[in-house]
Amino acid sequence: AKLQGGNEWIFFSDEMNDETIKRLELESDLRRALKNNELYLLYQPIVEKGTRKLITCEALIRWQHPQRGIVPPLEFIPIAEETGLIHSIGKWVLKTACKQVVDWHNEGLTDVSISINVSAFQFQNRWFIEEVKNALAYSGLHPNYLHLELTETVMLNDSQKTIEVMKALTNIGVKISIDDFGTGYSSLSYLKNLPIHILKIDRSFIQNLDVNTPDFAIVKSIMTMGHGLGLQVTAEGIETTQQLEILEGMNCDFLQGYFIEKPLFPDQLKEWLNHQHS
Ligand code: C2E
Ligand code: CA
Ligand code: CA
Ligand code: CA
Repeated sequence: AKLQGGNEWIFFSDEMNDETIKRLELESDLRRALKNNELYLLYQPIVEKGTRKLITCEALIRWQHPQRGIVPPLEFIPIAEETGLIHSIGKWVLKTACKQVVDWHNEGLTDVSISINVSAFQFQNRWFIEEVKNALAYSGLHPNYLHLELTETVMLNDSQKTIEVMKALTNIGVKISIDDFGTGYSSLSYLKNLPIHILKIDRSFIQNLDVNTPDFAIVKSIMTMGHGLGLQVTAEGIETTQQLEILEGMNCDFLQGYFIEKPLFPDQLKEWLNHQHS
């Protein structure tokens, strides 16, 4: 069997299953996606407890595939990481998201920050600091408005190099969040050695959050530990008013989830803010 992927012909043996074929096709299509403007970003609000004021927006990538429709990031980010395409995609995300928040600032939405997901592969690239600085220079964004969301995979390797890169970034004013906190396999000792500002509790702990559940004890402990270390804590994936109330009761600093707002296009975000303030 053979299938066409853009201008190239890819040959498949009959033993290859549909999943493998799909993956190879996605891989070859992804190479063109950036150039063809098929990638775009949505922005999900993260608000402050109590006031529910917008603090930052998380940039979430989407791929509008010409034939398959929208491909979710969990399907193509791993492919991008394996093929090395994550480096050009990551650079594009940094530039685009920084530029977007500067546009918002210019339109009067001052004080909003941007939170950007950084793949461990991207972080480990020797040019990563330069890439961040380039995105800041290109957009004109002040580093204080940039949050980078790193996963615990990055912390697994709390080598001198990791510490250096994180310090270099925090020294210029960039904030660091630990994404999906509590789901990695790393020890907690990195919390003592690394410059971190925010712990982002993984959605899996929030999903079934209710008093008298194990999740309640876990989330409460993360909150106590985070605050004890002088860090701020974000909860992601809040879908119900009960979850929101429990988290505010625990003094969770920042709140994110469909119950507050789903990921939005830039124009929708402005509308959402107007709605909030009226
Ligand atoms: P993440 O960083 O943990 O992002 C949170 C995911 O949960 C997002 O899925 C978001 O749309 C979704 N979400 C937000 N609120 C709720 C909620 O209340 N309920 C539920 N069920 N889901 C909620 P999304 O956009 O599909 O992204 C999935 C993952 O893909 C992200 O997980 C992140 O690891 C990765 N990703 C997304 N954008 C980028 C990017 O620009 N660069 C990199 N390297 N990874 C990205
Ligand atoms: Ca994230
Ligand atoms: Ca997360
Ligand atoms: Ca996640």
